[in-house]
Amino acid sequence: MVYTSEGFTWTPSAGVSHGLPTIGAVDPPTFFASSKDQIYDVIVVGAGYAGLVASRDLSTQGKKTLLVEARDRLGGRTWHSTINGFNYEMGGTWIHWHMPHIYREVSHYGLQDDWVVTQVPGGKEDYCTLTTGEQQRNISHEEEADLCGRVFRIFCNLDGNDLREKWKYVFGTKLDPQFAAEWDNLSCSDRLNQIRNQLSPEELAALEAQLVQMGGNSPDKIGFLNALLWWSLGSHTGTGLNEIALHTRLASGQSELHRRIFEHAASTGNLSYAFGYPVKSVQDKNGLVTVIARDGTAWKARSVICTVPLNVLADVQFSPSLPVEKVEASKMGTANLCNKVHIDVQGPDYLSWGSLASPGKGLVSAFADQLTPADNTHLVSFGPDPKSSLGIKLDNIDRIISAFKHLLPAEKRDEVLVNRIVAHDWNNDEFAKGTWLFAPPKLTTKYLEALQRPHGNVYFASADWSHGWRGWIDGGVQSGMEVARDVIQHQKAASNNSDGRAQNSRSQSKL
Ligand SMILES: Cc1cc2nc3c(=O)[nH]c(=O)nc-3n(C[C@H](O)[C@H](O)[C@H](O)COP(=O)(O)OP(=O)(O)OC[C@H]3O[C@@H](n4cnc5c(N)ncnc54)[C@H](O)[C@@H]3O)c2cc1C
Repeated sequence: MVYTSEGFTWTPSAGVSHGLPTIGAVDPPTFFASSKDQIYDVIVVGAGYAGLVASRDLSTQGKKTLLVEARDRLGGRTWHSTINGFNYEMGGTWIHWHMPHIYREVSHYGLQDDWVVTQVPGGKEDYCTLTTGEQQRNISHEEEADLCGRVFRIFCNLDGNDLREKWKYVFGTKLDPQFAAEWDNLSCSDRLNQIRNQLSPEELAALEAQLVQMGGNSPDKIGFLNALLWWSLGSHTGTGLNEIALHTRLASGQSELHRRIFEHAASTGNLSYAFGYPVKSVQDKNGLVTVIARDGTAWKARSVICTVPLNVLADVQFSPSLPVEKVEASKMGTANLCNKVHIDVQGPDYLSWGSLASPGKGLVSAFADQLTPADNTHLVSFGPDPKSSLGIKLDNIDRIISAFKHLLPAEKRDEVLVNRIVAHDWNNDEFAKGTWLFAPPKLTTKYLEALQRPHGNVYFASADWSHGWRGWIDGGVQSGMEVARDVIQHQKAASNNSDGRAQNSRSQSKL
């Protein structure tokens, strides 16, 4: 299998090795459907979901398209690595048929029966370990769902009606501005302070751990409006979000779906691509946009779709300069700087186990996913921003293991053997500088519309500023699809206008 230079794995016998096998790696990295110097209809920057879907929609509709990607692989913040026959999802993982745009891709490419379920019952250690400071209690998964759903509901139920009316059309583009402004001013810790006295210490710990897992940072950094968005996307119920967004994943892995989208686009004969080309600047002049890579290679197109994530948008130079709101938004960035770590433990016993801890010692949650072919338990664990007082860096394996062991029931810590760790350090990844979007206070109301706006002939697509499942895979697909549609319509209108002008001048010259 082909390797990417990204990600790492550790085992007790082999230690750390960087670079992992993945079907997402693109080899050879470049392909030009016609002359390298041609003027493309559209250049798409970035081959994550937004860029892949946009490239597919453009090329299947006859547009000569160039896809330029900094990395050596498909998928951006989603990709999987297969190690000893097991698929480790390094970024975006769980998708669902209640996520309409990605589900359309799943069924379009024949993967509708390709599911694996995370958090399965029936294993020996079938409970959730809840750690509240130094206290610990193992609770059944029924009690866990009840507890976590109840406290999340108290947190989000602002109007006594679970926002069913206030945020009824969660995929709509309009949100009551007064409602949005009021709640976007608050961080999750501001909201916690409003309801703290309604919660027992254990309930508070369960809620804090959930929030830190969602927002990948301490509650004072993450925006309350984003939590309300997730609540509403989770069908306005306490457990809806968990059932939709943390449950089902593709058995054959995210990179399989990327391949199918990419190969479909390539099969049109309209797609050229260049992987391993970080874009340095985008210059829009006299009706043509020039995209220049760091090594000086330049390509030209009538339009560009830029899909680089929010946290790195300001690293690309634009001419004319980006509007100040886009730059400010990028500098503000996603609050989410979490660590996601795969941990395999010896044997099948932990297949049904889960854990939540507040404050945690670097990791705040873990839950079992599946058994590996060697019959070990594969767990996924999350922890907040390594720079926060609650986080840890991923370059220290001993700290990862001790943070994980803190999540285990105290009496089991010595007997559980960690036999593999796999991770991608997204925070130190120059083409992401973070993980999924979880907006800090004020980002949404101040900058969302500005982020979605085109800038001359340059358009912007990303999960980070989509409607609907903003910050999720579904949002990336939706945004890529919508922006490709806008570009096609714009180019059609422009060519109709110029045909009209040409016809006008022909008929005038006959007179
Ligand atoms: C750890 C983690 C866990 C997640 N879990 C889930 C989940 O379970 N479910 C879910 O739905 N979502 C999840 N997400 C979120 C989801 O993965 C993202 O929201 C989505 O994949 C973003 O897609 P995108 O195309 O908008 O951006 P990206 O995937 O980031 O694509 C942007 C592309 O632009 C490229 N790029 C950046 N700079 C340049 C440059 N200068 N030149 C050229 N190319 C450049 C990048 O390399 C990248 O390939 C998770 C994300 C992470 C990181």
